[in-house]
Amino acid sequence: MEDSFGHHISYLRISVTDRCNERCAYCMPNEFQEWLPREGVMSYEEILRVVRIAVSLGVSKIRVTGGEPLTRRDVIPFIKRLRKINGIKELGITTNGTLLSQSVGKFKTAAAALAGAGVSTVNVSLDTLDERKYVAITGRPYLERVIEGLDDLIDAGFDKVKINTVLMRGRNDDELLDLVDFTHQRNLLLRFIEMMPVSTNDVLKESNFLPCGEVMKFLSDTFGGLEPSANYRTNGPATYYKISGRDQLIGFIGAMTNLHFCESCNKLRLTCDGKLRPCLGSHLEFDLLSEIRSGASDERIADFIREVVARKPKAHDFLSNYQPGRKMIAIGG
Ligand code: SAM
Ligand code: SF4
Repeated sequence: MEDSFGHHISYLRISVTDRCNERCAYCMPNEFQEWLPREGVMSYEEILRVVRIAVSLGVSKIRVTGGEPLTRRDVIPFIKRLRKINGIKELGITTNGTLLSQSVGKFKTAAAALAGAGVSTVNVSLDTLDERKYVAITGRPYLERVIEGLDDLIDAGFDKVKINTVLMRGRNDDELLDLVDFTHQRNLLLRFIEMMPVSTNDVLKESNFLPCGEVMKFLSDTFGGLEPSANYRTNGPATYYKISGRDQLIGFIGAMTNLHFCESCNKLRLTCDGKLRPCLGSHLEFDLLSEIRSGASDERIADFIREVVARKPKAHDFLSNYQPGRKMIAIGG
């Protein structure tokens, strides 16, 4: 599928839940949040149907996210069923890592169960290596669990697990080198993400916002250079640089400052309540679940998906006084 700006759409990110066991300030609002009622959340059958149709239209990469995807019951058997859909070349999950060490069925850890279900890539969010800061950022004392979970992923055979670190001035800017070393030692792929005004604008105050460019300069000064890595393809929004003198790549996801950020966008998002979104940074969303529940045929659903692709904007709206609408946790990161 191609939109009117030449974006080739091959990637669907699916949020399976709006619930989470953490409370990251940049993702969840401070005020009390009501979870969606269960009947408003897409069933696994409904999601699988949409995926089968999307794959027939050219989608070949799927990422399962949330909320925290591992909090949804039976998510691993669901992932196993996703894997069986012919035409999916890459199946990933994004998780906060807190539940990777718990046992699941016959598997000693969820990490091993994910490997057994055929997941190809796991992205784990980790903004700090300091327990006190971890609690301040996520609202939960789970740092140790996350680190254990990372070791379980490695034991389960995942290579190049990605670490997503949201950059926050005054909160984790003093830990950049620790994070670089931590990921180097464990052979993890670190990616720094600029904060986006998805859930709240507060996080974007100049006192909080840390642009990728500043981090690149700092790393370059520290290590004596960063070399752009032209041929490192992950099919995603990150640009990768190699640290001079080290066998380590660092990814930068600069949605706010990289003016070319949207040019290679290949993504659609399906929220857990069945809205199809052509862009994270746009308020456009289309109610696919109502369509499905009112008896739409596969052809109608295929047309619906094509229509949403046709509405995909050229670029996100974050820089044009974007006012957060739906919270990140409800859209699916
Ligand atoms: N719970 C899982 C996790 O934390 O990885 C999956 C969902 S989370 C919404 C997906 C990703 O979005 C995480 O890496 C998180 O750090 C990122 N994220 C959430 N809110 C963000 C924001 N306002 N700006 C930038 N990234 C954000
Ligand atoms: Fe939960 Fe992930 Fe959002 Fe943090 S970023 S509140 S872990 S969904």
